[in-house]
Amino acid sequence: RAKAAGGNRFEFADAEADARAITRHGLTTALPAALERGEFFIEYQPLVHLGDGSVYGAEALVRWCHPQHGVLGPDRFIPLAEHTGLIVPLGRWVLQEAVSQARFWHQQTPLGGDGRPLRINVNLSPTQLHHPGLVADTVAVLERSGLEPAALCLEVTESALIGADEDLLKPLRQLAEMGVDIALDDFGTGYSNLANLRRLPVSVLKLDRSFTQGMQRHPADPVDLKIVEGIVSLAHSLELAVTVEGVETGAQAEQLRDLGCDTAQGWYYARPGPPDRLHTLSLADAV
Ligand code: C2E
Ligand code: MG
Ligand code: MG
Ligand code: MG
Repeated sequence: RAKAAGGNRFEFADAEADARAITRHGLTTALPAALERGEFFIEYQPLVHLGDGSVYGAEALVRWCHPQHGVLGPDRFIPLAEHTGLIVPLGRWVLQEAVSQARFWHQQTPLGGDGRPLRINVNLSPTQLHHPGLVADTVAVLERSGLEPAALCLEVTESALIGADEDLLKPLRQLAEMGVDIALDDFGTGYSNLANLRRLPVSVLKLDRSFTQGMQRHPADPVDLKIVEGIVSLAHSLELAVTVEGVETGAQAEQLRDLGCDTAQGWYYARPGPPDRLHTLSLADAV
């Protein structure tokens, strides 16, 4: 809509919001066909031990290769897929793809740097968590691929589990009993009741990137350090492993290692990339 010259900032902001809404609408309606046409792909970001930097697994991160807009990150379309429910078939596809990739790694390089089979982490959105087929779908995918359940870790955000009742936790509990790891993603952003942690069937806390960013300042904020220290000690007393997200520098890695964090993920180690690279990385660590 053409506006007379001299249009103020508000009109400009309006036009931008309109454009965003149009794109959002376009992307939303394009999602089902995109899934059918195979426009989604997965990048894998290595997960490493903070102690020696050895790779023990990877997180699967979905991308959309859109015919007009190019490669779109998950923040652009996961919320839309959540909203329309397409996240269920899309999430099933990601799980299927990532699990067969992990199975393939196991055939090539059976063990990660810690002598255990390489782990594959897959994100679950709240809608997937509420979907009645979650356990059956996951079991079917594992059985079809032959991947052992202990090699799979499902990441659920802390905010998705805030106030979760037993009905919501039951499928996660069933998966955990089968040996699947459950990680609490973006931990520390959700203001959850820490005492609540003990009733969640989780075995890993993924400390949100915002804490890692706090370690970047020199000297790091002593309050930030205390908070991380507190979270780590609570996690360890509940026998949870602590993974840190978004490690971008060696200084951060060192700081977080000193604070007792166990494992890490971030650009300092490796950016998300194609699946064959993980194989090379873990082989390089093994020698
Ligand atoms: P997340 O699960 O917390 O994933 C970590 C995000 O941090 C990824 O962004 C990753 O690329 C980014 N990252 C990793 N290392 C660094 C670093 O050192 N610095 C910085 N600045 N960023 C780093 P990405 O790939 O854009 O994914 C964003 C979010 O989208 C994910 O956050 C996850 O919540 C969601 N997502 C991704 N794939 C899927 C999926 O298959 N299903 C669902 N439901 N959600 C997904
Ligand atoms: Mg995640
Ligand atoms: Mg995360
Ligand atoms: Mg995060």
